[in-house]
Amino acid sequence: MNLSSILEKMEQGITPDIPELVYLLELPDGMEKDQLFAAAYQTKLKYVGNKIHLRGIIEFSNICTKNCCYCGIRRDNHKVSRYQIPEDDIVTQAMAADQMGLGSVVLQSGERSDEAFIALIERAVRRIKQESNGRLGITLSTGEQSGETYQRWFEAGAHRFLLRIEASVPELYAKIHPPDHSWEKRKNCLKLLSEAGYQTGTGVMLGLPFQTMEHIAKDLLFYQEMNVDMIGMGPYIIHKDTPLAKEMPDFDPERQLQLGLKAIAITRLLLKNVNIASTTALQALHPQGRKYGLLAGANVIMPNITESCRRAGYLLYQGKPGVNDDSAAGLEQLKREAAEAGEVIQWNEWGDSPHYFARRQG
Ligand code: SAH
Ligand code: SF4
Repeated sequence: MNLSSILEKMEQGITPDIPELVYLLELPDGMEKDQLFAAAYQTKLKYVGNKIHLRGIIEFSNICTKNCCYCGIRRDNHKVSRYQIPEDDIVTQAMAADQMGLGSVVLQSGERSDEAFIALIERAVRRIKQESNGRLGITLSTGEQSGETYQRWFEAGAHRFLLRIEASVPELYAKIHPPDHSWEKRKNCLKLLSEAGYQTGTGVMLGLPFQTMEHIAKDLLFYQEMNVDMIGMGPYIIHKDTPLAKEMPDFDPERQLQLGLKAIAITRLLLKNVNIASTTALQALHPQGRKYGLLAGANVIMPNITESCRRAGYLLYQGKPGVNDDSAAGLEQLKREAAEAGEVIQWNEWGDSPHYFARRQG
């Protein structure tokens, strides 16, 4: 087994087997790893160009009814003071994203499925569409819901949805969630989202306790099997007030970062025309992490545009960057990163996934 033969295979559209994917994921720092990133970047140029699509992310509530064992805002973390940004403010913040030229917003929150929550999102989405004259693209990332709820939000104007499977192997999923969280239900939600018409995104956390390289290899094949349009995956980062924290006493940020980057590169080589996010967790591990993500094949960045005063309340993991920044400072930094990477920011565009249109045609 060697790198060139695996890359050649992937270029011809042949899916590598699990040992080959593991070989790529285990590449140590050095020439071969650099070659992997370079090949992924070439594939990115060929299929999606040297363009960065932006989505301003609004973390509009940290109230969550779920209890994922890794997440800082899980229900049982009573140290968190909970907030819900009022509807008017969500709309105002989205309109600020429009003014900044971001082209799209992501509304993200903890998970709730009560009617008040569903109706709030429905109204906010409708108003953002109206008040921006249809200019803003809207992605939701609001957890597991019924098909009917997904449909309601789609009809209100949301057109993309992010729901990470978190771990594609059910045994691993079970180890990082309480027993009443269901992998099957989450997987089925991805199907419901596609049926409702959304561009659908999924992803996993990388470098989780109990996770092997085979697990990650299977995650990448899961993306392919599910035929998703967008990938948002990032390194796992400890939050001390969660049950999973004690499972990783030897947290190694550099290992997590490199694993995150290699997973992006392999995903680009495998899936080619999808949108892949260079996630905030990469930036949390290294000041240049997001830029490295772009150079490894990612093409989407989600700057945080949540009101500064709310940011400290939405700590999914420790060391989340930008907690004390305002949105304008964040954008200036992003422009510098893009220029350094030789990438061109696509202002005022939705930046849809080419894979979605190819899927619909074919
Ligand atoms: N409640 C929604 C959306 C908000 S959570 C949902 O769960 O889908 C968004 C993502 O944050 C999750 O999908 C998870 O992958 C990520 N996340 C949570 N805790 C994390 C941690 N400790 N390290 C890295 N990512 C984490
Ligand atoms: Fe809630 Fe999402 Fe965190 Fe799970 S990952 S506890 S659903 S916010």
